[in-house]
This record gives sequence, structure tokens and C-alpha cells, in this order.
Amino acid sequence: MNSITSSLTGELETWLKEQNQPAFRYRQIVNWMFAGRAGSFADMTNLPQSLRDALSRDFRLWSTQVTRHTKAADGTEKLLLQFRDTSQIECVLLREGQRRTICISTQVGCAMGCVFCASGLDGIKRNLTTDEIIEQMLRLQRLLPLEERLSHIVVMGMGEPLANLDYLLPALDWAHADRGLGISARRITISTVGLPKSIDRLSRLAIPYHLAVSLHAPTDPLRNRLVPVNHQIGLQSIMEASDRYFEVSGRRLTFEYVLLAEENDRVEQAQQLARLLQGRNALLNIIPYNTVDDLPYRTPTPHAVQQFCKALTSQGIQVQVRQRKGDKINAACGQLRRTTEMDSSDQAPGLNSPVVNLDRPFSNPDQQSSKSQE
Ligand code: SAH
Repeated sequence: MNSITSSLTGELETWLKEQNQPAFRYRQIVNWMFAGRAGSFADMTNLPQSLRDALSRDFRLWSTQVTRHTKAADGTEKLLLQFRDTSQIECVLLREGQRRTICISTQVGCAMGCVFCASGLDGIKRNLTTDEIIEQMLRLQRLLPLEERLSHIVVMGMGEPLANLDYLLPALDWAHADRGLGISARRITISTVGLPKSIDRLSRLAIPYHLAVSLHAPTDPLRNRLVPVNHQIGLQSIMEASDRYFEVSGRRLTFEYVLLAEENDRVEQAQQLARLLQGRNALLNIIPYNTVDDLPYRTPTPHAVQQFCKALTSQGIQVQVRQRKGDKINAACGQLRRTTEMDSSDQAPGLNSPVVNLDRPFSNPDQQSSKSQE
């Protein structure tokens, strides 16, 4: 039995025809899923009872099960979703001011091998399918009261989105289409380790998604060590592909830099980074590392973060330090799944410190940034 989310394209329409239903029933069901936030077929009250019964007989509403739901005091909520093959992924809802941002995953595990990241510790299992990606959006949206809408999506959960574009792009179509979630493309951020061919594919698409490129190092030798996939790519080709994306989208690029104590947080490295970014219309997001159990990397001191940022801003580079969100619920990519898979009992609060993030300007941490994710 298929889920509605996996049948949105094609199958549901064909099925409705077989049931001798008029074409507008398809639009009604889509509307119930995206705008109406239906939790069951019974919720779809403008469909005839016989059609609701037939839907329940032939379809499941969801492909996933929520196996865990955690909430942090700051309003961040995290879902651990289990698929039919028992794979698990996580996705997060973040609340800040008027913003309602969701962070979604694209793969079970990750193949990129970033040495500090929890998501890839056990390698990659598989790509998520389009419906599995859509379902994260719908399930997170259902956590909001009806009068609140999702405003932003960041594709920054588990996995490398650009290694799964075939399934991700149709899901993002539903995210920004009016008949879907109606979130404008520029409020949808795709975060990538930097795969030039896929960045070029996004450039050709010419949909102005916001691109965030994870650098983490200003030079190839250091990046090869922290982000092993860099061996096959190299910083130069990433920067060139990013520039091409900027030319097409006209939108300021974001680069991400996870700051790891005594690995990539020296002032000299900030100066190298400033040279790399010089002349580009770019924003640098500094993310102080969130520690992961079993990994040796540490969070830099606030002083080190400040010195690093100062060395960049003094060269005219625009810098933001990412605000920690979801403290105590292991809201960092891969962390919740990992603690759950390692130990199914309740985790100790604050075991892994926080994570995901809404961006605030470095210079004025109390002021909400309205531009960074636009
Ligand atoms: N594969 C994509 C999305 C990954 S998650 C990418 O590489 O961009 C989004 C960001 O979170 C990446 O920059 C990633 O390096 C960073 N990240 C992963 N683990 C982290 C941790 N424990 N602390 C801080 N940032 C982390």
C-alpha cells in the first residue's frame, strides 16, 4: 500500500480517475496535505465519505512513523522519523521571532566523511526519496498551530543534498509551489559540502534557491583532512562553481565554516580565509562546533571565536556567528539518531550540546537578522 505523499505525482490522479472522481478531487487532497495539514483521511471533510473510505482502503497517509519527538525550552522541536525499511532520520523545527524554519535531511547517513560530523560516522545507507523528504516538511508543519506558517527551509540535516538532487528537487518544487507550501525559493537554503557539477546543475535550473557552501578550511591540505571528499574536488573548483551560481542567481552566497578548537580556528587561518573570500559578495557563517560523543573535536572558546571573526571583519568580510538552537535535544545533524541507535533509553540532558541555528549578526547578537536567509 502506497502513501499519499509517494503518490502525489501520477498515481493518485490515475487512481481518482479509476474511481470516476472529478479532477478537482486531486487538488482537494493536495490542499488537505499541504495547506490543511490533514492528519488522517477522516480530516478531509470536503471529500465524500465513500471517497475517504476508498482512500483509507488503498493508501496510507504517511510513509513514515514518528519514533521520537523532543522539544527544547527555546521552542525548537525535533522529530526522529522511521521509514518502512527501519532507517531513521531526523528533522527539526526552529522558532525565532516570526520565523518558522525547518531543517530537513536528504540521506540516511552521509558519504562525505567530514571528520567532525555525526551524520557520516556510520557511512551512507541510502538516498531519501522525494516523498520521504516531503513528509519531513508536512510532519514538521503539523507541529505549528494553524495560524502559523512555515517561513524558511534549510536543507542542512543529515546527508549531502547535492548528492541526491534527483529526489530533492521535486520535493523542493512542492515546497515552493503555491499548491504546495508556497515558500519562496529564496527562503529555501541548500547547504552543500561543495560538489561543483551539482552546483552547476542548480545554476542551470535558475530557481533562486539560497546556496550555502560548507568550506571549513581555507586551504586544500587542511580541507582534505577535515572534509575528505575534498581530495577529489579542491577548493578552487568549488569557488568557481559558487561564482557561477552567484552570476545566475544574483544572490549573495553563504559559506559555512565550522570552527573547531585548534584545528581551523587560528587567526592566521582566518586571514587565509579572508583572502579566499575577498572580492566575492559573500556571507561567512561561523558555526562553533557542537561536540559529538566519540569524536575528539572541541568547541573553540568565545575568545577564539571572537578573534577569528575580527580577523575576517577587519578585511571587510561579512561574518555571522550562528546562534545555538535546540540545546539539550541533540538538535545537531545526526546526533539524535546516533544517541537513539546507540542507547534507546532516555538520553542525559545536554549530552551533546546544541546545534542548529538561526543566524544572527556577529556584531549585534541581540538583533534578529532578517536578511541572512532571504
Ligand atoms: N552536507 C551538507 C549539509 C550538512 S549539515 C553540508 O556539508 O553542508 C550543515 C552544516 O552543519 C555543515 O556545514 C556541516 O559541516 C555542519 N555540521 C555538521 N556537524 C556539525 C557539528 N557537530 N557542529 C557544528 N556544525 C556541524
